Amino acid sequence: MCLTIPAKVISMKEGPIDAPVREIVVEDSRGERSIRAISLPELKVGDWVLYTLDLAVRQVSQEEAQEIIDLLEPRKFVDLSSLSPSFSSVLAKSFSHDLDRSDIIQLLSTEDEIEMEALFSEANTLRQANLRDFFCIHGIIEFSSNCVRSCYYCGLRKPSKDVTRYRMMPEEVVEAAVDAVDGRGYKLIVLQSGDDFDYSDDDLVEIVTEIKSRCKVFIFISVGERSAECYGRMKAAGASGVLLRFETSNPSIYEALHPGQSLEDRLELLPVLKGMGYYIASGFLIGLPEQTVEDIADDILLMKALGIKMVTVGPFIPSEGTPLSAHPAGSALMTLKVTAIARLLMPKAKIPVTTALETIESEEGRRLGLSSGANSLMFNLTPEKYRADYKIYPNKYHGKEELWEKYGLFSEELSYKMLEQKMFEAFEPEDPGEL
Ligand code: SF4
Repeated sequence: MCLTIPAKVISMKEGPIDAPVREIVVEDSRGERSIRAISLPELKVGDWVLYTLDLAVRQVSQEEAQEIIDLLEPRKFVDLSSLSPSFSSVLAKSFSHDLDRSDIIQLLSTEDEIEMEALFSEANTLRQANLRDFFCIHGIIEFSSNCVRSCYYCGLRKPSKDVTRYRMMPEEVVEAAVDAVDGRGYKLIVLQSGDDFDYSDDDLVEIVTEIKSRCKVFIFISVGERSAECYGRMKAAGASGVLLRFETSNPSIYEALHPGQSLEDRLELLPVLKGMGYYIASGFLIGLPEQTVEDIADDILLMKALGIKMVTVGPFIPSEGTPLSAHPAGSALMTLKVTAIARLLMPKAKIPVTTALETIESEEGRRLGLSSGANSLMFNLTPEKYRADYKIYPNKYHGKEELWEKYGLFSEELSYKMLEQKMFEAFEPEDPGEL
């Protein structure tokens, strides 16, 4: 499901009104362009359309167009001539996507309003140039709140006693997925759980197989550290991607926060999964104890080196009853800077606005994320009766989903095909040095 910025029809080429394809000129925030309109016989000059890939696919009213523009309001233009020469030269280097560690540290460290605006604006421009005004809406089903791990920052860690645990039956997971695809138009769904080994490998494979047999959807798996054999079987059953964060590239921080786990194991698994043909989604947390700006620069460079295709970076949010309950939340501003730098380095990556950013900044976090280089949203599709109990952190933001879904483009075959094309394109390495 995708949403794009509306455009106003300013002229139409002469031709039969009932022609299946008509050439029109539209105007949006980026100027005028010629596109084609398919199966919109009532369309006339002055009307508003949603379009992408030079194809108008849906007519919307002026009120609806304004509602979408409000959701996606772009950033103001920034006059780059007022920047310092050193900041300008780093931004200029970003055009070749080869920022080094010291460049990234400089971008992360700035607190100058104009420099930050320039960074966000450059990332936004790059996102538009590479991915156009085409925002994807994906869904996540959190199917088990049980976990054998004890990550210090997580409300679902095994030692947490005041958590209501649930485990959806495989049939319930399948029904939730089919409902999201057939009933609401989702085309990409993440199936997420804690590291819950009560689901056997066979259970997970069966869930993927059944969903794929009943609807057309890209399935991403987020079930933690399972064996390569299990991941291989899920891939063979039709799974497309894996979401597995490395959380931090600093081994000391990783090991301090993940008792019994090692960063090495996680980093060994990611290239194996990539080698299986999985589309890899990964990233890290911002605001962990002892984390420095240098660590964050290393985290960003690690994402690039791993060749990940979906960036998932969010601020740490303290959760009651965990060892980090008194640690301050990560910074929304730093999250936006990381989003922007990730876009500069990985121009074609899918970058969702994480729920954690939305939780600390609400709808404004969503808007700021989408205008700082992010290009997608991840909505919660967990059945209502379980949703509140998936408490990795408290007070998760849910807002305006219905409004976004209402204008989601292409709930039909064309949407799936376009996403498929983008997924194939994503496998072309952006950097020959990728792992
Ligand atoms: S972060 Fe994931 S693996 Fe760690 S305790 Fe929470 S649910 Fe489990």
